[in-house]
Amino acid sequence: MSDSAYFKFLQDSKSIIDENKNKTVDASLVDNTNDCKILDTNKKKYLAFVLQKSLEELDENLLKFENKYCRKGLKINWAVDYDDLLSELHSIMSKRKVKTAYYTKHYLYEEVGLEDFLKKQKIKYSEGADVNFIEAQTLIADTGNLFILDNDMSNFKRLNDGSINIFIIGVEQLISSLADVEAYYNTQLAISQKGYNGYILYHPIKKDKDYLFIVDNGRSNMLNMQRQRVALNCLHCGRCAKVCPVYSVIGSEPYNNVFTGPIGNVVLPFFEDVDSYKHVSYVCLLCGNCEKVCPVSIPIKDLIIENRTYFRKTKGIDIPMNSNYLAYKKFVTSRKKMNKSKILRNMLLNKILSKAFRKKRKMPPLEKKSFNKQYILSLQNENK
Ligand code: SF4
Repeated sequence: MSDSAYFKFLQDSKSIIDENKNKTVDASLVDNTNDCKILDTNKKKYLAFVLQKSLEELDENLLKFENKYCRKGLKINWAVDYDDLLSELHSIMSKRKVKTAYYTKHYLYEEVGLEDFLKKQKIKYSEGADVNFIEAQTLIADTGNLFILDNDMSNFKRLNDGSINIFIIGVEQLISSLADVEAYYNTQLAISQKGYNGYILYHPIKKDKDYLFIVDNGRSNMLNMQRQRVALNCLHCGRCAKVCPVYSVIGSEPYNNVFTGPIGNVVLPFFEDVDSYKHVSYVCLLCGNCEKVCPVSIPIKDLIIENRTYFRKTKGIDIPMNSNYLAYKKFVTSRKKMNKSKILRNMLLNKILSKAFRKKRKMPPLEKKSFNKQYILSLQNENK
């Protein structure tokens, strides 16, 4: 890029920031009557539509983005998983003799284990660093730009301070068109805790100064699920977790993952692996609180039911446990069996619910007489 083109780029970015600097959220966008600000329904619907459309055309959109982004000889680093990403990062860091890095708290950095990686490489955190890890919220397919939220031009300054810039973004974080940037930005402003006051539409200028990583890390598994894939529209605002009655009790620890709460219940079995994470789709009470506060209207409750149906159909639940449940159901729905003596019922149930099944569960205490017998007795007493 020539000096004059570079200068024009700086001017353009600055004017975009200036234009948006004092922009406040459109009052109709936010309903403050609720504890958790809820976006105006039409605007929510519109953004959900934009994101869903971008997702449905993801293959095409990624190609479009690549064409535009790489037009000046730039390259995209496609990473299948975090091993892929970290090994490429390692070679960049070694080649460029990086000693310090600047980064923020970000779910994607946590997901790929960036902080641990940097510690192992003995790369220290610094505000003025050799490498800046800068959060880009989304890619814009038809222009090849990166959309970066900014606060007081801090990201703008970093992008232009002469250090190496590294962007890590999920393969699903993409919108088709620049025309939808305003809708996306307004939603980000409404849900943001950080008080952004502008955004940058960034397109790198030198290939050895900016590195873009687009990470899959299980997302394509989710894309293959025709119904569940809408969960990839998640903006990671964390609102659903705040209103979830189960999450309020168990917190994030049991998930042992960066994705937690209601949206974690949907995506984790696909982002990780079904066997290790299918159980999270069963912790939900299906109250639907999460759907009411989601800024992009993800039908979380329905998706959890979809997951359960899918696991069942594909025998994705433990076969031994499944047969235990079936035997248990057969027993408790048989009046003849339930009317047997307490000792006999106990014995039979213990046999049905194998030792392995009872390892983590206590046997439910049984009534001395079955409810059927109790009912008959109460009727007899009444008629006396
Ligand atoms: S599912 Fe919706 S409410 Fe939950 S984190 Fe994602 S965008 Fe926020």
